[in-house]
Amino acid sequence: EFWQSCLNHLAEDLPPQQFNTWIKPLKPALDEDSFRLLAPNRFVLDWVKEKFLARIEALALAYFGEPTEINLGLGEPTFSMPRSVPSAVAAVIAPNTSPPESPKRLNPTFTFDSFVTGKANQLARAAAIQVAENPGTAYNPLFIYGGVGLGKTHLIQAIGNVVHTYNPAARISYIHAENYVSDVVRAYRHKTFDDFKRHYHSLDLLLIDDIQFFSGKGRTQEEFFYAFNALIEARKQVIITCDTYPKEIAGMEDRLKSRFGWGLTVAIEPPELEMRVAILLKKALAEGVVLEENIAFFIAKQVRSNVRELEGALKRVFAYARFSARGISLDLVKESLKDLLAVQSRQVSIENIQKTVADFYKIKVVEMYSKKRTRSLVRPRQMAMSLAKELTSLSLPDIGDAFGGRDHTTVLHACRKIVELKEQDAAMSREYALLLQVLTS
Ligand code: ADP
Ligand code: MG
Repeated sequence: EFWQSCLNHLAEDLPPQQFNTWIKPLKPALDEDSFRLLAPNRFVLDWVKEKFLARIEALALAYFGEPTEINLGLGEPTFSMPRSVPSAVAAVIAPNTSPPESPKRLNPTFTFDSFVTGKANQLARAAAIQVAENPGTAYNPLFIYGGVGLGKTHLIQAIGNVVHTYNPAARISYIHAENYVSDVVRAYRHKTFDDFKRHYHSLDLLLIDDIQFFSGKGRTQEEFFYAFNALIEARKQVIITCDTYPKEIAGMEDRLKSRFGWGLTVAIEPPELEMRVAILLKKALAEGVVLEENIAFFIAKQVRSNVRELEGALKRVFAYARFSARGISLDLVKESLKDLLAVQSRQVSIENIQKTVADFYKIKVVEMYSKKRTRSLVRPRQMAMSLAKELTSLSLPDIGDAFGGRDHTTVLHACRKIVELKEQDAAMSREYALLLQVLTS
């Protein structure tokens, strides 16, 4: 019938990779007076609509001898779900086809498909895909750490969604650490630890979010220690997120901290500019808006700290545009974000930090960016980088750029060095405090 002939034509016309990626996953469905094609996800749908719809319509005209409407919609994926582990590509595409019924508390929109990748998170994402495809055997536990709003919850729920899609019977529990603490307290009060253990010790996948909330909670840590051991021993997957590196979690038992490092520990860094732009474009597209690139760049330059704030800014722009019935222009963006921009301008600028620190140590401002590595320059530079990290919302790479194009690892090293010096050297610690005060008053 028509679709088969259409497939034959397109298979000849298109490079195999394009054909396999965009055309093959489409599923035909005949309506009364139009022809429907179902795409497995919005990505494919948008792409096909833009690149191939006209060609398919032309083929339909030739086949039916009259103009035939082609409706594109979202539908079931056409590839069958293998029981065992599929390729990374399938894993990335599949979760977007919303699993039948997600396990409790998993957000079906947190998928790998909707997760934008950049330097800041590519390692974490790759590890997450590995674990989603090989739960219990790849890395156990997987420990993901990073600041707020950088995508930790999104990423671990994406893992949960993939595991659920391929194995709907898997017992998956996503729990925020705070709720786990409450569960322990409840079990303690009602003397229902047996139930508690039955639940947590028999899971196939435990996703535990923001584990820094366990800090100082002795009983919780003890219960978690047992649950963790039971799961790891049974080769069940444990995935943990945290705002810091395992060894640096305050108020956490050593035996837990060391266990957190048994598998793989990966960081998510704040997104660099290009990634922020990509995120804005993608989120806009998901709302059906094609954002102009200069506008995406403008927003991405203003909102630097994390993805959550970036999303917030975009939502405000959209709301403002809808409300004032105007298109999205640079002027509209500036108006809608004016409170936010005002806050930013009140923030300490990196130039100000460089100038103040240079004055303080009696060096020239240009020596902040110079490549010279004499000791009398290195320390002030490290001080300024460390203050920039503390006082601005710039990412490590952004700070490195502001210091004459230095690498982000240099900035990271500077911040660590200053922390270390502040602890060992009282004079250093006083200088830091003084500079902080001068800069923030
Ligand atoms: P965290 O748990 O690290 O505080 P979240 O996972 O809650 O951060 O992310 C905050 C918001 O930003 C969520 O809406 C999430 O979907 C979005 N987000 C974070 N990282 C990305 C990314 N790389 N691509 C797309 N959206 C992202
Ligand atoms: Mg979170």
